[in-house]
Amino acid sequence: VLEAQNIHKKFGKSDILKGVSLTIDKGEVLVLLGPSGSGKSTLLRTLNGLETIDSGEIIFNDRILELSELAWQKIRPEIGMVFQSYDLFPNLTVLDNILLGPLKVQKREKTAVASEAIALLERIGLADKAESYPRELSGGQKQRVAIIRSLVMQPQVLLFDEVTASLDPEMVREVLSVIQGLALEGMTMLIVTHEMNFARQVADRVIFMDAGQILVETNSEAFFTTEDNPRVKQFLSSLA
Ligand code: ATP
Ligand code: MG
Repeated sequence: VLEAQNIHKKFGKSDILKGVSLTIDKGEVLVLLGPSGSGKSTLLRTLNGLETIDSGEIIFNDRILELSELAWQKIRPEIGMVFQSYDLFPNLTVLDNILLGPLKVQKREKTAVASEAIALLERIGLADKAESYPRELSGGQKQRVAIIRSLVMQPQVLLFDEVTASLDPEMVREVLSVIQGLALEGMTMLIVTHEMNFARQVADRVIFMDAGQILVETNSEAFFTTEDNPRVKQFLSSLA
């Protein structure tokens, strides 16, 4: 579905992405790991057009995406992204936050989208919060709403950037289980996380990045058991 070919990206004089290539196949869950500052967030942002690239190609459904902002605007609903900070609009209710994209960006019809949104809220156990404001929700609830807000756009791929990083431990689980559910349904996802147990459970494949390059790409079980790249070993033991 989504492919990066030899992506290069500089910020000022520093090379942040140094020729990164990856492929996410339909229905696959790819987990992206790596030390802080290795370029994971930057890579995710380039993949859905939030960040420009200096060279390389991003290929979506076998079509090379143009770098013009216009093309990205069209593609962004197709490649959803959920961030660490749930950036819901504080002045809109939960339901209106969810409806904003489908109505304003996709120009879909309100009654149809609203019933879809309610169904999604029911699924994550937050139907009773539809008329609440973000400030009335816990961090875990907000993050689940943020996931729904991406899902309602019916993306072909969802990118997750450390979506549990700012949550209290007891809220982490409820958010991860929503993502786990999506994986079981066959949602195509690229996930950056530092929850290693979750990564191991949910990943089909793991990519390990260090200093702007992909060092290791392997299946999940091999990564966590037999991978002998010294940087990977160092990374995993630093978390243990
Ligand atoms: P973390 O695990 O801490 O989230 P990361 O792997 O997501 O790290 P990035 O956020 O992609 O890392 O950052 C990679 C490098 O790029 C860092 O050195 C960072 O300082 C730099 N960087 C990121 N965004 C910018 C920016 N807008 N301007 C300048 N430098 C940036
Ligand atoms: Mg990051």
